[in-house]
Amino acid sequence: MADLPSRIAENLAGVRERIAQAALRAGRSAEEVRLVGVTKYVNAETAAALVAAGLHDLGESRPQELWRKAEALANQPVRWHLIGHLQRNKVRRTLPLAWLIHSADSLRLLQDLDREAQQRERAAPVLLEINISGDAAKHGFAPEQIEPLLPDIARLSHVQVRGLMGMGSLEGGRTQAKKDFARLRELRDRLARSCPAEISLTELSMGMSDDFDLAIEEGATMVRVGSDLFEGVEA
Ligand SMILES: *Cc1c(COP(=O)(O)O)cnc(C)c1O
Repeated sequence: MADLPSRIAENLAGVRERIAQAALRAGRSAEEVRLVGVTKYVNAETAAALVAAGLHDLGESRPQELWRKAEALANQPVRWHLIGHLQRNKVRRTLPLAWLIHSADSLRLLQDLDREAQQRERAAPVLLEINISGDAAKHGFAPEQIEPLLPDIARLSHVQVRGLMGMGSLEGGRTQAKKDFARLRELRDRLARSCPAEISLTELSMGMSDDFDLAIEEGATMVRVGSDLFEGVEA
């Protein structure tokens, strides 16, 4: 088996190539798509190999694991993305470490983030997580719930909304995933027409290893890829 750095570099090049091809098919530039490497399956050493290979956006789904890896990689040029549910009692410790929180999923969480950001005299950049598939096990705002909340969210002076995040259905495979991504983009386009000026909906975080190519065809500006980056690597 190839050594860790070369295996990781090879996997990264493969994922980047698939991003470029999907962008090409969609008539988009690959530079419009930010790759977030999801490191939840691997240790800090393997995550560091990804950074050494040139990937500086890393994502974790559990706040405690983000804290741990952020500490282990403190001297590395990493932008940390929180992509999973943030419990309100973990806001204080997570906010200063996260470059972007993809998983803002309730007004109360947004209010807590705003308060914490205000105390620290900084901004809290977030995406609003939308439960597009309606899956009961998933977090996120229901699609029809979000529009009436936008004025309240816009009043949070330190929260900066940058876009929406969503996941494809667990069932239905790639066909269903593509429909889910299209629905998220349509929701974004519709909300963007009427949303308060304080809120930006430019970013669309959608697509994982099994379906990021489809997400890019449907307008993703951020894809969150784990498994495909670590093929052939022991966890
Ligand atoms: C784990 C995870 C991913 C990455 O999934 P892969 O299928 O391993 O690429 C993306 N997004 C979220 C929210 C995740 O929890």
